[in-house]
Amino acid sequence: MQVTSEIERFKKYCDSLVSYKRRKTIEVNIGGVKMGGDNPIRVQSMTTVDTMDTEGSVEQTIRMVEAGCEYVRITAPSIKEAKNLENIKNELRKRGYNVPLIADIHFTPNAAELAAKIVEKVRVNPGNYADKKKFETIEYTDDTYQAELDRIKERFVPLVEICKEHGTAMRIGTNHGSLSDRILSRYGDTPLGMVESALEFLRICEEMEYYNIVLSMKASNTQVMVQAYRLLVQKLDEEGLKPYPLHLGVTEAGEAEDGRIKSAVGIGTLLEDGLGDTVRVSLTEEPEEEAPVAAALIERYEDRQGHNEILPLEYPLQDPFGYSRRETREVLNIGGENVPRVIADLEFLAKKEIEIPDLKSIGHFYLPEPDKWTMNDLGADFIYTGDNPVRFMLPNGLKEIVDFVRWSTLEDKNNKFPVFEIQDYHQANVKHPKLNFLKLTLSDTDDTVLDLLRHDETLVVLLSTSNKHGLAEQRRFIYLLIENNIDTPVILHRTYGDLNEDKLLLYSATDIGGLLIDGFGDGAMISNRDQVKHTEKDTLLNSVKFHNETTFGILQAARTRMTKTEYISCPSCGRTLFDLQETTAMIRKRTDHLKGVKIGIMGCIVNGPGEMADADYGYVGSGKGKITLYKGQEVMKRNIPSEHALDELINIIKEDGQWTEPGQSLDN
Ligand code: SF4
Repeated sequence: MQVTSEIERFKKYCDSLVSYKRRKTIEVNIGGVKMGGDNPIRVQSMTTVDTMDTEGSVEQTIRMVEAGCEYVRITAPSIKEAKNLENIKNELRKRGYNVPLIADIHFTPNAAELAAKIVEKVRVNPGNYADKKKFETIEYTDDTYQAELDRIKERFVPLVEICKEHGTAMRIGTNHGSLSDRILSRYGDTPLGMVESALEFLRICEEMEYYNIVLSMKASNTQVMVQAYRLLVQKLDEEGLKPYPLHLGVTEAGEAEDGRIKSAVGIGTLLEDGLGDTVRVSLTEEPEEEAPVAAALIERYEDRQGHNEILPLEYPLQDPFGYSRRETREVLNIGGENVPRVIADLEFLAKKEIEIPDLKSIGHFYLPEPDKWTMNDLGADFIYTGDNPVRFMLPNGLKEIVDFVRWSTLEDKNNKFPVFEIQDYHQANVKHPKLNFLKLTLSDTDDTVLDLLRHDETLVVLLSTSNKHGLAEQRRFIYLLIENNIDTPVILHRTYGDLNEDKLLLYSATDIGGLLIDGFGDGAMISNRDQVKHTEKDTLLNSVKFHNETTFGILQAARTRMTKTEYISCPSCGRTLFDLQETTAMIRKRTDHLKGVKIGIMGCIVNGPGEMADADYGYVGSGKGKITLYKGQEVMKRNIPSEHALDELINIIKEDGQWTEPGQSLDN
């Protein structure tokens, strides 16, 4: 027992898994706008204008402040930009904007030391502050490793001294994609490597009694990002270091809905467990678009405390620092090794009667010539039609779920599957021989229910929640199954109402994505009570389409089902060598039919190759009008003119056997 609790202790990464509570961090003063402690979770972002363009930087900063940014970060790639921060700051103050500024530093300690005397905070990347990346794996002995640490200390100490003297704060911001060769050789490309990378710098700060520090662990892979932040918290506690505030962010999240979903999956998952003191959402869009997304993610937690009580649980029952999918039994095509399934809730549409062309909204298309069905990559696996089953034969790839009471009256009970309320299930004298759904919440689940889940091998749980702290409640339900050795598959069902589409997207991505990241959930279904208000069928179809695309987007962002090309595009900054938004749109136009391929689009060669660590191919700005193309981390073509770069990228994908010709578009 003693041993077990010792092991469990090392899995603890937040105050409570079942009761919302923000992790208590120390307060850090950033130019008078304090972070951590009891302060609200802060919103911030980064400019994209060249730092030498004073007027442009000032105007963009003002737009960002007006959009809700409480801190603004500006890149300082060299001494001259660091120097110009003073002009930017003076001009902002002159115009009455006192927003704290943060200098973003990579590779250039001299720029950091100058910036720390000017702005309120500096961000250093421990992967490249004192290291040049050579993509080498060097074997370090304990002595040579220590010698490296001594070298870092020598370079880093002057900055800490300046920060102490000037009251400047610091973020030690690890990026998954830019870990030093030293860290990679000892810890690998892992969450532990990311954490250790920051701790090496943090220990120096604590030794010097400098505590005005914020920490971050960003990655574009949401699973790695979440695991790294959790591990960071656990390691701080284990080592007796102070609970520093956390800056949350997913790097290179991309643009539009995909970028928002990915950000919500990573950031929202941590916020749900009370982690995070400031949020920066990175989108390949204008920076003033980012703050409202961050604010929407944060605002959910303002009144989260006092939610309905959830069955206690002290420690996670799975490894919170690594991914493994909960083992479930396969029921028809759900659970086991199957990808998580997408269930489209068509209950309201079904009340108006579903017709064949309506299924286009969930990715299934009927072609009269040659009289067959086809589907695109976002073809739902199931539809739920309540008590109005469809009246035509569905395509092979699409199955239907009907309320039990209606299902029991159908002549053909084989091709539709019933969903039971718990009391119906007990009374029913007919069930489907292969697949039955059972609607449950945690509070419905007593020993009798657990027993029937254990014994009825045709059951799949459709798990709902009305708890304000719904992710935690659904997670607790799954832990209850794990505690009881029950391997019934679980569909994560969330119902929303009174939400605009922007929020529905972010909230569902947090609620469902946060469970998928932990390996929970064999499928997902999003319902929207507001659909009852849609009198026009077209509006209803648009809403259904949006939910279907969102569900697929969440599965992809949580890396549990890849259905489309993933673009890992940087948000751009003062280093960017081409128009990121335009270029991303151009690349997307020719490649977005490539299922499951990850393409990195990076504005500069300084950080780009590292930050797209996760991509299969890379398109990286390496000079004015010059692009360098990558396959993984390997350079395939160096400095080619940008007008040929996309064709060359496609050639590389073709040579690699990953290219398919775009099919006929089915979306129109
Ligand atoms: S990769 Fe993009 S955001 Fe990162 S430093 Fe380069 S241009 Fe700036």
